[in-house]
Amino acid sequence: MSGRDQRPPLNRGLGEHRPIPRRDFLQGALVGAASALCGPLLRAHAADMGTGALAAQDQPGYYPPILTGLRGSHPGSFEAAHALRDGRTQGSELDSGESYDLIVVGGGISGLAAAHFFLARHGADARVLILDNHDDFGGHAKRNEFHVGGGLQLANGGTLEIDSPRPYSAVATGLLRELGIDVDAMRRKIENREFYRGLGLRRGSFFDRETFGADRLVVGTGSELTAGTLAHAPLSARARADLVRIEKGSVDYLPGLSSDDKKLRLSKISYRDFLRDLAHVDPQVIAYYQPRTHDEWAVGIDAVSALDCWAFGLPGFRGLGLQGGSIARMGYTPSGYKDTGGSATLHFPDGNATIARLLVRSLVPEAVPGRSAEDIVGARIDYSRLDRPGSKARLRLSSTVIGVTHRGDAASARELAVRYVRGDQIYRARARGCVLACWNMMIPYLVPELPEPQKAALHDLVKSPLVYTSVALRNWQAFSRLGVDHIYAPGSYHSTALLNPKVDVDVYHSPTRPDQPMLLRMVRVPCQPGLSEHEQNKAGRTELLATPFATFERKIRDQLARMLGPGGFDPAVDIEAITVNRWPHGYAPEYNPLWDPEVPPEQRANVLGRAPFGRLTIANSDSGGAAYTDSAIDQADRAVNELLRLYA
Ligand SMILES: Cc1cc2nc3c(=O)[nH]c(=O)nc-3n(C[C@H](O)[C@H](O)[C@H](O)COP(=O)(O)OP(=O)(O)OC[C@H]3O[C@@H](n4cnc5c(N)ncnc54)[C@H](O)[C@@H]3O)c2cc1C
Repeated sequence: MSGRDQRPPLNRGLGEHRPIPRRDFLQGALVGAASALCGPLLRAHAADMGTGALAAQDQPGYYPPILTGLRGSHPGSFEAAHALRDGRTQGSELDSGESYDLIVVGGGISGLAAAHFFLARHGADARVLILDNHDDFGGHAKRNEFHVGGGLQLANGGTLEIDSPRPYSAVATGLLRELGIDVDAMRRKIENREFYRGLGLRRGSFFDRETFGADRLVVGTGSELTAGTLAHAPLSARARADLVRIEKGSVDYLPGLSSDDKKLRLSKISYRDFLRDLAHVDPQVIAYYQPRTHDEWAVGIDAVSALDCWAFGLPGFRGLGLQGGSIARMGYTPSGYKDTGGSATLHFPDGNATIARLLVRSLVPEAVPGRSAEDIVGARIDYSRLDRPGSKARLRLSSTVIGVTHRGDAASARELAVRYVRGDQIYRARARGCVLACWNMMIPYLVPELPEPQKAALHDLVKSPLVYTSVALRNWQAFSRLGVDHIYAPGSYHSTALLNPKVDVDVYHSPTRPDQPMLLRMVRVPCQPGLSEHEQNKAGRTELLATPFATFERKIRDQLARMLGPGGFDPAVDIEAITVNRWPHGYAPEYNPLWDPEVPPEQRANVLGRAPFGRLTIANSDSGGAAYTDSAIDQADRAVNELLRLYA
């Protein structure tokens, strides 16, 4: 039976028979039969420099941001790494004959920033090679580009915006400025966060029949829910009263304890346990809040401490009289720009892919037209220029590093060999130093000579899986009729669906009228409540890698039909394209007081794991123990400084 034959029967009512682009269909097709658009990408594994054939990224028309279907960790990006993990790596090895001052493993923001810092600090004559396993650069900072109804529509495939619970460091702020980004000024100029409110649209809650007994969309979420709106929700009278109590009540659920003692207690229980065991709410209320932490932590309320949820602003704590300020057992420190020290926020139309693209412009200016952080949004990058001999920086895609070894003893070696898989070929290149800006838990496979305790610490750094789906819609009239722009759907496959934010910058203009095409952004987090955070992460990763695009598509069409059908939405005609950005290795692991050992911060796994070793140093947001862009930049800065001491 072919892969295609195993697909579930098409549901014509949901529109799965419609010819929207579906990349995983093409994945199964013969390379030579691929469409003109995707041909160069699909040939990624057939062509490479060693055979004299043109590598995929060097072919005319290669432009991965426009690809739809299964993206993020797309088919073809992870197989070589998994083969290494499983001890199945095989193939002949070719010496590329190349020698660099620095090889960077990983072309995410951290790897790109490391290359940028290295070139700036080591000197103009330095030569750097960046290797990444994906068919596009940016790591999590990916761009989804659609051309619907004749216009350009952009979304973030992963990292969404410049923001952090901490202030950006001087280094991270300095890099943004160097790239031309003034966060506060640009935010005022390009973003309109009140756009949908101005149209009278609100947040809504979708109650699904599998979880709550009936499909019902209600205007309002959380504290915006009133007794009036809740009357339409399929909730028991007790659940409605409990929901209002949690959102608006002032009950002290821990009477007799000091603020510090309450915090300590809350740091040892999950938010779910707080609701269930201290606030004694109806189980329907727990079901309502279950995915409330998905966006921030990529895990449900059963796996996040009640204290962190208090700091994050979740409801139910008003009556406890908790005083501001953090304690040691806190993973999330209170945010709020200017009030408590969080960073300013800014969303570009393609999210932080703009930062990645600006970094690539600084590294390979000839590939990226334009001069400013505004005109980059409309710029079309010439991928064929990213990996040219003679450039100070070369960016090589579809290249999975499988080994980094010192030539001789690590303590005294002058050079490293970096082995990577591209297509069916294993290549070897040499460098004076290497920054590993890849996912840290993979490093023990790449560098088996690392000390065992360091490998154990790196293995501990399990990332949280999640999915950002972009759906191109013919129009958004159903949202307008239903009075919502953002739907929280606690029991559904995707727990959030929201219209693309309004951002106007340079040539890019967001839609303004409901009859215009629009992008919808949806978030899915695969969790398994009942397991520890890391076990949930691993189970979710396995689930994501085993889920074909056809299943995502079916779930998306079904969910949108049920949420928006009463507003006239028809999935068979209103969906133009779907991109599922799948991140089995998503958010960097952060300290979680429910599961992590109580050790001083300097003994946490991310710190032990990032120790320099010989001529290699370790960057990536994993090393900072924080799933934020500033962490990726700060860790790049540290890793480059550690390495440069050896070049002195
Ligand atoms: C869905 C999502 C949303 C997010 N939203 C935000 C947000 O709004 N704001 C924010 O500040 N942060 C956000 N983050 C956190 C985000 O991880 C960081 O902001 C930052 O982009 C991480 O950059 P990085 O370079 O450290 O890692 P990555 O972006 O993961 O880059 C590492 C790269 O190394 C590659 N690699 C791994 N192994 C190998 C190998 N063996 N060979 C070659 N290449 C390899 C990886 O495939 C990847 O491309 C989000 C993350 C995700 C997943």
